[in-house]
Amino acid sequence: MKRLSLLPSGRLALSILFVFAIALTLNFENKVVSGSTAPQAGSLRIIAFGAHPDDCELSVGGTGAMWAAKGHQVKFVSVTNGDIGHWREAGGPLAMRRKNEVEQASKMLGTTVEVLDNHDGELMPTLENRRAIIRLIRQWKADIVLSPRPNDYHPDHRYTGILVQDAAYMVTVPFICPETPPLKNNPVFMYYTDRFMKPNPSQPDIAISIDTVMDKKLDAVAVMESQFLEGGANGHEGLMPKNAEERARRVKQVRDGHAARNIGIANRFRTVLKEWYGDEAGAKVKYAEAFEICEYGRRPEKAELKRLFPFFQ
Ligand SMILES: [Zn+2]
Repeated sequence: MKRLSLLPSGRLALSILFVFAIALTLNFENKVVSGSTAPQAGSLRIIAFGAHPDDCELSVGGTGAMWAAKGHQVKFVSVTNGDIGHWREAGGPLAMRRKNEVEQASKMLGTTVEVLDNHDGELMPTLENRRAIIRLIRQWKADIVLSPRPNDYHPDHRYTGILVQDAAYMVTVPFICPETPPLKNNPVFMYYTDRFMKPNPSQPDIAISIDTVMDKKLDAVAVMESQFLEGGANGHEGLMPKNAEERARRVKQVRDGHAARNIGIANRFRTVLKEWYGDEAGAKVKYAEAFEICEYGRRPEKAELKRLFPFFQ
């Protein structure tokens, strides 16, 4: 009886194995035949770190929106809550206001956002914070990790750079933060570009045209009124518009200021743009964001960078 009853289930198991083997073979052949490094829609996972609720949006808001528009998963993390980033207000209410601002911006860009509850101006490169960053990168299963460089005018920017650097490689080590499964591969870690010269200037490996999404980026940045319209930590009463006309003028001034930053990046790194887009198209790019490979992450060849930044024909 037992033998008889086992026989059909044995056949069933064999059939399932057979189907599974065929599926595996087809999948393998598909990969071999395609021979392409082009990613499937939605297959890239990007996590960007900034010190304050606005840093990621400014540094990678355009490229982030472009990845998101192609169905890739983009997360912006503010490592502090921004609770001293205003000339008139501070503390919990400001932190809530800034969280709300980046959440609105995130909806406009098609990205995800998280604000960590560390005080603004007090970030330290502690083991606890390093662990938090390691966990976030692992949980996001990141292919690309972005951060500021560790030389920057603001201590929170510097320590965000240090914390993210310190998470490179460690995200693959199983017995640090063992409760969060390690990544099999070290992601590609990249820095935003900046204007600091010492000990060495920013040397981007890739520059991305954000011309098609510049308006979207400026719209998203515009909702962070605490920082830009009102001037953030160094603002003052005189910046506050008193009527609709003044407000419209101030909004335009803020937009033009941000646009100028991305025009400046395109002009400074014109050679890098031409390297990626060709001489003719590279010369025409108006607004750019640029990124430099961090040596502590995986070091991608040009073909892999092209796969990670799928914006070139
Ligand atoms: Zn900042």
